Amino acid sequence: MTAPTPVVALVGRPNVGKSTLFNRLTRSRDALVADLPGLTRDRHYGQARWGGRDFIVVDTGGFEPSAEQGIVREMAKQTRQAVAEADVVLFVVDVRAGLTAQDHDIAAYLRRLGKPVVLVANKAEGMRESGQWAEFYELGLGDVVPVSAAHGQGLRSLVEAALARLNLPEPDEASAEGNQARGDDGVIRLAVAGRPNVGKSTLINAWLGEERLVAFDLPGTTRDAIRVPFERQGRRFELIDTAGLRRKGKVFQAVEKFSVVKTLQAIEGAHVVLLLLDATEGVTEQDAHIAGFILDSGRSVVLAVNKWDAADDYQRQLAQRSIEARLGFLKHAPLHFISARQRQGIQALWGSIVRAYESAMIKMPTPLLTRLLHEAVAFQAPKRVGHVRPKLRYAHQGGSNPPVIVIHGNALEHVGDAYRRYLEARFRKAFDLVGTPLRIELRTQD
Ligand code: GDP
Ligand code: GDP
Repeated sequence: MTAPTPVVALVGRPNVGKSTLFNRLTRSRDALVADLPGLTRDRHYGQARWGGRDFIVVDTGGFEPSAEQGIVREMAKQTRQAVAEADVVLFVVDVRAGLTAQDHDIAAYLRRLGKPVVLVANKAEGMRESGQWAEFYELGLGDVVPVSAAHGQGLRSLVEAALARLNLPEPDEASAEGNQARGDDGVIRLAVAGRPNVGKSTLINAWLGEERLVAFDLPGTTRDAIRVPFERQGRRFELIDTAGLRRKGKVFQAVEKFSVVKTLQAIEGAHVVLLLLDATEGVTEQDAHIAGFILDSGRSVVLAVNKWDAADDYQRQLAQRSIEARLGFLKHAPLHFISARQRQGIQALWGSIVRAYESAMIKMPTPLLTRLLHEAVAFQAPKRVGHVRPKLRYAHQGGSNPPVIVIHGNALEHVGDAYRRYLEARFRKAFDLVGTPLRIELRTQD
């Protein structure tokens, strides 16, 4: 058991560069995933990876201070939850504008909260002398870290300073490959994600009320999030709560407000994410954002459209069409239509969950991968570009969860996206991969 993925919140007055910094920090992770059709990103929450470390970034956004209210009251309203959920706060100030009264107010507020704070002097491009940001030491928040979000300068030091406040264990090999938060103890960690009222608690209670499930103890479970370990047909699972569930007698009830941060942490800590949708509402903007987080996390995913019982024909058609239109980037996910309340279709989910797990953890032997690669090329070779034709020589597995296939060869920079998708589809079919993203990495030798 590892700790939940750390959360870093960006706080500061308007126009200091928070959203620019947010984009910089989260782009490190976006870069691992293609921008796929239909994919929209949440502008306030994102996943980041620097130096083998995963963390969650929250931009507390642009609150406008009003004359009567003062910046801190205004901020307290909109950012309280984000700051409360953060492990460390990046307090962003603008070196070009200099220290302002509002900065003083925010600093006082943050000091009262007692959270670890890193003071970030943004827009410091071209500045070398610490004298240029010396006035910010007045805020009494310790060291000032100069960065330029716009020019991408100082970010590595900033991330190091932020993560240094968290006493994290050293990142290990596995986390560098994207396996953070999952020891390989054969337990399938499952997160049930979805916006409020899609039926997460109803489904979980329907499952847990079954006799087929046997509880067992798992060391280190439960601190802040509910984790329910159980066994089903000889397989061990751990359910990671995203719904803010608390046990009330025999059943679980959602008692907390929906939290994007908790959802993100649960996704990061899972092997498989079951994304629940509501048949009577189709795919909403919030559903699409959660789906985007799952894609970025690289986790395996199973889609279930709940409340099928309550949807009429028109709603059912609409729901199916909105899945095609808005969640096209999760085409690899098995799709189920269920009713948690009437317990219809909920057993069949387990088959998909297990397959999605096995697909994420698959071991692909080098000789087989190379043979499949040669077959794919024989069937359809990559296009010649000018005088060069890319030469794909051999392939090996570069990681799991999600699986990565590394292809070696020459002139691979000329392999186009369409051909890459063709290869992905061939490998997917050959290994019968379901639910998991599959990453193809091309490495040119010359
Ligand atoms: P927010 O309101 O705090 O989210 O600020 P934004 O990220 O929207 O940035 C406000 C303005 O500052 C925009 O015009 C940015 O282009 C600019 N900006 C952000 N970072 C930098 C930087 O590192 N250097 C300079 N010179 N401008 C920046
Ligand atoms: P959560 O916020 O995602 O945990 O959602 P809940 O499990 O609390 O469900 C929200 C509401 O939807 C409750 O009134 C449930 O009874 C209802 N609900 C859940 N599943 C179904 C279903 O399959 N069909 C119908 N018609 N209603 C459902």
